[in-house]
Amino acid sequence: MRPTRFVIIGGGPGGNTAASYAARHGAEVVLIEREIIGGAAHLWDCIPSKSMIATGGAMSFLARAGRMGLGDVKPRIDVGNLASRLAGVEHRINRSTTSMLEGQRVRVIEGTGSLQGPHQVVAETVDGLEEIEADVVVLSTGSRPRVPDWAPVDGERILTTREAYPPAEMPDHLVVIGSGVTGVEFVHMFKSFGCEVTLVVSRQQVLPQKDPEVAAALEADFLRRGVRLFKGARARSIERDGDEVSVHCDDGRKATGSHIILAVGSLPNSEGLGLDNVGIETKGGYIPIDPYCRTSVPHIYAAGDVSGKLPLSSVAQMQGRKIAEHAMGLSDDRRHRVLDYDKAASAVFTEPEIADVGLAEADAFAEGRKIRVTKVPFTASAKAVINDDPRGFIKIVSDPATGVVLGGSIVGLHAAELIAIIALAVSSGLTVHDIKESLFVHPTLAEALADAAE
Ligand SMILES: Cc1cc2nc3c(=O)[nH]c(=O)nc-3n(C[C@H](O)[C@H](O)[C@H](O)COP(=O)(O)OP(=O)(O)OC[C@H]3O[C@@H](n4cnc5c(N)ncnc54)[C@H](O)[C@@H]3O)c2cc1C
Repeated sequence: MRPTRFVIIGGGPGGNTAASYAARHGAEVVLIEREIIGGAAHLWDCIPSKSMIATGGAMSFLARAGRMGLGDVKPRIDVGNLASRLAGVEHRINRSTTSMLEGQRVRVIEGTGSLQGPHQVVAETVDGLEEIEADVVVLSTGSRPRVPDWAPVDGERILTTREAYPPAEMPDHLVVIGSGVTGVEFVHMFKSFGCEVTLVVSRQQVLPQKDPEVAAALEADFLRRGVRLFKGARARSIERDGDEVSVHCDDGRKATGSHIILAVGSLPNSEGLGLDNVGIETKGGYIPIDPYCRTSVPHIYAAGDVSGKLPLSSVAQMQGRKIAEHAMGLSDDRRHRVLDYDKAASAVFTEPEIADVGLAEADAFAEGRKIRVTKVPFTASAKAVINDDPRGFIKIVSDPATGVVLGGSIVGLHAAELIAIIALAVSSGLTVHDIKESLFVHPTLAEALADAAE
């Protein structure tokens, strides 16, 4: 029997994971990528932003050297050195993904892919057009930053997140527009580099999608660090005057600085894919999918940001794996589960770090659902005190009748790592008792999880 032929358009986390899993299970795989394997996640999103945040974290750690029993240190940012570090990290991570695909005999075509017919994909390369026959097609073309028509992005002082790694010169005063996850991460990043920062928040709460108690903890920290917050202010226009840039808000306020970063959402990359040629439905440019990640044409799947589900690399990767399993007929295996987006853990890499999974306390109250909430502050954790960072708390939401863990939030150092335990409990139906009975290492921050499960 000939192997299943997969053609995947887009080599970001969704596409390269689908390619790798399909190849691992014996499929013949062609991956078409127009920019770089690893996608926006490697070039502009997860990897460079977290690398910059790690540098900021090193700076704030060094700035606390005196409190850790060292002599005082006054770290300063070196833009050239930072730019080489980012390039080095991106190169190493990209090399490891491409070598894996090479090892799995995935054929990578450098070019732009589109659908010509239900089973015909065309790759446009520097050498011309190539038509490839496919049994299964995966569309994983990602998204790009949204630029409102009132924002004259110039790549110099008025930036999208893509021009910020790092900017040619460090801003004296950065104005960030948008207080979702991306916006607050940029606030934290540049504040830790020593820049003045103003955040324009259209609502009354930073991180409007998050548990209010969690968002309040971050907001308090921003204020303590001297971040200026323009709450309830919607940006309406931007003006540049020499080296000065100003954001005019709908309530009459004006935020002036040296640079502006826009973090106001994203748009799907679905144009030019030939979706009309095969009758694939779209909604607002996104490609709707069923629980198996199938589009309205069953052998054509979509993964990642373009599918309009949770825009996270982790979700794109999981969709890529699920697609390979489903298309290869492995989903009958009892271990295969349909992806439950409500159980995806997510994090905000600020200081303190924020992470959550599953049901949030505020959502449970809004739904009138009976829950048990247990919470411990990190001030009670020996390791947090040793680390000289006892900010934050762990909160676990469980079912009062059965003890099954329904969700949790963590604010504090290494929250994004610690949430893995609550995420495992949520996805596996474990109870608070299961967490409590686990013997964790002492002294660790994880011990606070057992206390929070009491
Ligand atoms: C600033 C920022 C930070 C983020 N940080 C995190 C984080 O820490 N953790 C996290 O989980 N998520 C994070 N995200 C979200 C994450 O980056 C995205 O969810 C993820 O990149 C989506 O993966 P994807 O495979 O859908 O698309 P992408 O990574 O966008 O990859 C899509 C690829 O498709 C290619 N492509 C598009 N059209 C075509 C075509 N026609 N032919 C060939 N190739 C094509 C593109 O060149 C691109 O390489 C962040 C986002 C932003 C904006």
